[in-house]
Amino acid sequence: MSEALVETSAVINTYNRFPVTIVKGKGSYVWTDSNAKYLDYTSGIATCNLGHVPEKVQIKVKDQLDLLWHCSNLYDIPAQQELAQLLVDNSRFDKAFFCNSGAEANEAAIKIAKKYAKDHGNDQRVEIVTFSNSFHGRTGTTMAATAQAKIHEGFTPLTPGFRYLALNDPDALEVIDNGKTTAVLLELVQGEGGVNPVDSSWIKQLEAICKQHDILLMVDEIQTGMGRTGSLFAYEQFEIEPDVMTLAKGLGSGIVIGALIVKDSVAESFQPGTHGSTFGGNPIAMSAGIATIETMLDKDFLSNVKEKSEWFLGSLNELQESHSSIKEIRGLGLLIGVQMTSEAGTWITKFREKGILVLSAGSNVLRILPPLTTTKEELAQFIAIFQELLIENERI
Ligand SMILES: *Cc1c(COP(=O)(O)O)cnc(C)c1O
Repeated sequence: MSEALVETSAVINTYNRFPVTIVKGKGSYVWTDSNAKYLDYTSGIATCNLGHVPEKVQIKVKDQLDLLWHCSNLYDIPAQQELAQLLVDNSRFDKAFFCNSGAEANEAAIKIAKKYAKDHGNDQRVEIVTFSNSFHGRTGTTMAATAQAKIHEGFTPLTPGFRYLALNDPDALEVIDNGKTTAVLLELVQGEGGVNPVDSSWIKQLEAICKQHDILLMVDEIQTGMGRTGSLFAYEQFEIEPDVMTLAKGLGSGIVIGALIVKDSVAESFQPGTHGSTFGGNPIAMSAGIATIETMLDKDFLSNVKEKSEWFLGSLNELQESHSSIKEIRGLGLLIGVQMTSEAGTWITKFREKGILVLSAGSNVLRILPPLTTTKEELAQFIAIFQELLIENERI
């Protein structure tokens, strides 16, 4: 968005918008109001995991649009039953609650963790542990759960009840159980915070401590879930069994949705009157979720994602070997961070000028989020352009 538009726009300026107006999308590509075409390796921030306007989801949502848009949660919604069943059948969890965004899913997780402590006679357990550089949302409470000072700035007093520890820090494990902790909430690969994966032995130890002290292990899979890391959910690859998981972004392929997924023992803490949402579990959103999961359960879908990821990460590592502007490659599946030696913003602009959209995560990290449906040719095109940009940069 141009500066002139920022000044005259009736929209509050909460985002530094790129000067690109997207009006159409299909598969891996988007088109602007002046019909310029871009390869979209942002996927609407890890949301359009099946690419733009995926046909199977489009058809299912259109069918639902002809039937019923909304009826409230005072009535049984068959599509909600179906999506909940699909989620529990394909995970280690037992029950789901639906809402409308990631922050709202985390709000539900935080609420149920507090209630779980009370229901188990642990009134003194009032704290939830989160980790530095996490991101859990922008509502009052999820902002407080987010352990980043820049996100808190100007919004004190914060919702109390969060204790921040350092990710992958062995010392953090020593202090998790202080008699006051009811739950630990974390991303298995921090998305907004810089594409930082948890250490696999550290998370196993964390899980053991949680199990030992009946502390709920809650994974925020809002960005890592729905195939993004190469498995349907990231926790599968870390071989852990969390008690609570939150989903949103990729679950509806771009249709508004969020979900809290829990074990039976945790689900009992929500009863009629304890939690709710007017739009949560709305039939249109549920249809999008059903068609999205069904697509990802197709026999070869996830193994294809893994294969593409391996090739892509391999090619990026090769680029790193010959170009010193790349400091480190991190990530899992198609959630990839490339730490540069200079400002990510400059690289984002260079990519855009070559027809590719990418994101940042922190000041020096390029975040690359191809749709999971991207082709090997598109990935190769990305690598070729990246190489061109790196060579150009070295000439300056
Ligand atoms: C995007 C995100 C959220 C917040 O989701 P919203 O839908 O924007 O509220 C929370 N946690 C993680 C890990 C995210 O990536």
